[in-house]
Amino acid sequence: MRFFWRTALLVTLLLNAFGANPQHLRGFSAESARSQIQIEAKFKSIPSSGEVKKHHRFLTLEPHPAGSERNNELARYIADLWKQQGWEDVTIRRYDVLNTLPREVSCELISPVRYKASLREEPYDIDPDTKNPRVQSAYTGLSASGEVTAPIVYAHSGNPEDYDLLRKNGIDVKGKIVMVRYSNPYSYRGFKALTAEREGAVAMIIYSDPQEDGFKRGKVFPDGPWGPESHIQRGAITYDFMVPGDPLTPGWASVEGAKRIPIEQAKSIPKIIALPMSWHDAKPFLENMGGPEAPKDWQGGLAIKYRLGGTARAHVKADMDNSVRPNYVVEARIRGSEFPDEWIVLGNHRDAWEFGAVDPSSGTATMLEMSRAFGALKKQGSRPKRTLVICSWDGEEVGLTGSTEWGEQFAEDLTSKAVAYINVDSSASGPNFRPVAVASLAPLIVEVSRSLDAPSGKSLYEEWKASLARQKKDTRDSSLVDTRIGSGSDHTVFLNFLGRPTIGLTFNGPYGVYHSMYDNFYWMNQFGDPGYRYHTLMSKLWGVLALRLANADILPFDFAFYADNISQFVDELQKKSDPQKHFDFKPLISRIAQFESEAQTMNRAIERKLQSENSDSRALSRLNQQIMRVEANWLNSEGIPGRPWFKHILYAARYTYAHLELPGLTEALEKGDWQVALQQSKILEGALEKNAALLHEATAEISR
Ligand SMILES: [Zn+2]
Repeated sequence: MRFFWRTALLVTLLLNAFGANPQHLRGFSAESARSQIQIEAKFKSIPSSGEVKKHHRFLTLEPHPAGSERNNELARYIADLWKQQGWEDVTIRRYDVLNTLPREVSCELISPVRYKASLREEPYDIDPDTKNPRVQSAYTGLSASGEVTAPIVYAHSGNPEDYDLLRKNGIDVKGKIVMVRYSNPYSYRGFKALTAEREGAVAMIIYSDPQEDGFKRGKVFPDGPWGPESHIQRGAITYDFMVPGDPLTPGWASVEGAKRIPIEQAKSIPKIIALPMSWHDAKPFLENMGGPEAPKDWQGGLAIKYRLGGTARAHVKADMDNSVRPNYVVEARIRGSEFPDEWIVLGNHRDAWEFGAVDPSSGTATMLEMSRAFGALKKQGSRPKRTLVICSWDGEEVGLTGSTEWGEQFAEDLTSKAVAYINVDSSASGPNFRPVAVASLAPLIVEVSRSLDAPSGKSLYEEWKASLARQKKDTRDSSLVDTRIGSGSDHTVFLNFLGRPTIGLTFNGPYGVYHSMYDNFYWMNQFGDPGYRYHTLMSKLWGVLALRLANADILPFDFAFYADNISQFVDELQKKSDPQKHFDFKPLISRIAQFESEAQTMNRAIERKLQSENSDSRALSRLNQQIMRVEANWLNSEGIPGRPWFKHILYAARYTYAHLELPGLTEALEKGDWQVALQQSKILEGALEKNAALLHEATAEISR
């Protein structure tokens, strides 16, 4: 009999873990769940694809990069809209930050033949937006200004191993111009710039090879979603993997009167001249590169022989306006009815390289429709229990600037009040749902996905699994959410600097026009999300997740799942190389086991508490405060070695923006620095111990 009940409880827990039981909502008592389901049903009935499309048309009418008058106008537009929708405390915050816009950029091949790169994208009659005279030429954000004439070398992807191969072929890039392609494998363009700078190159041209995002992948714009011959991927090369935000105020906010460091001391400002190029412009350079033939995997999608170079010469000029300008963050809230000092923070960036139909205006349109639905609920008298804070960021494309400055300004409040941050950057470039989250929130996302209808008529959960299956990925519930969090969007300050739990949501698909002027309204309506069905679904999903967090009796985190993920990270680290010879993982593993066991006990106590009749609200509120402290315990105030701004010890990003788990320990083991590895392991063990004790204390209190 006992065995039966234990098994039954276990089965219930497992079913509940990922929301397979539709009446059960993680963190809600049966009674609260019934009213929550009604609130969500009302909420989900509001977003309309027609409204999202209207927002989207307006947002993508003109280019709106950070620091431009149009982007500032959009800030005022969003603030006004939020007021009309019923949001409270609507505020526009100003940060004076290092901005970046081009004055003049040019590039010319001068020998063996002359060719002047157009650095422009071709217009198409079918899409009038491509004729907008305010579209800018090619530039990279925070490129150095200067002018050079030098030999040119093809450096493949511009990663360190590429320069090793050049050296083996007797080619030194010192004093030369390097031409690199965007991704093969992918690395953030800022990392390519830093690598070129360290190698002594004087300029870097970064071009889009059709192999990666052009005709080799499929039909190109305006007949398909891939990048056409002249598309240019703009983007910043800021070294924000060192420290994001305004380079002149690393770690504090660029508010009026703030101290600013001299430009020479700013770690995140590149010293190299860089510019992006279409393959149309790059082809004459590649064809005339000269020198030895490049290896097979360096060959790209053009029907030419790619060579390593060394004999051709080029002239590159970049005159950049990298001056201090205002960035504007728009902020609003709906104050919580019961716990106004517990915040669910929602955000999206507003600035775009050009029209930004996917990146970020799909997210912005989604956000404006979600905020309309929240406003409508409030007008019907339904206020969330916890406070919703919504933000329109600026300068994300330059260096995650707006969100970082805002996070640094309100660090104290956010550390104690933010329950979670949900980021939507690009909301829809296709139908494939790809959320990323801290592991403790992954089960909640799976649960919510079951309660939403996807455009196919199936649930989002089923559509999500089918799309992962098509890409031959793991479709078990425990693997659906990506819990490896890199950088490259506005969640960074919340997770890595403030230690707040984060979620990032996106629907993706074939998308070859990223950061070009073809990422526009026409593209979205023809290829990305015709009918705006995934935008609308995202408005609902984002809102329902926020509502679950805002209204739960007990905050819906799963720390047992977190523990399980941490032990996976350690497993992988152990397997990757063979550090066991020099390094003992046992103390760390036993601390994880201890944290996991406390978390499982806590999950069971929470289930019992939610099922019991007598839930004393003060005890629950104390428990929620304890739950909110867990993530911050993963912070080390000194940061990870060499990068003091990045304080999270479970998550960071590599310089390439790729995810990096257990960053301090992993980097030390990769370097073979056993002493630092030991120190970093002790820091992890300490945090695990602290969190195990915290969960133990919380469980004891609610089990009384
Ligand atoms: Zn973006």
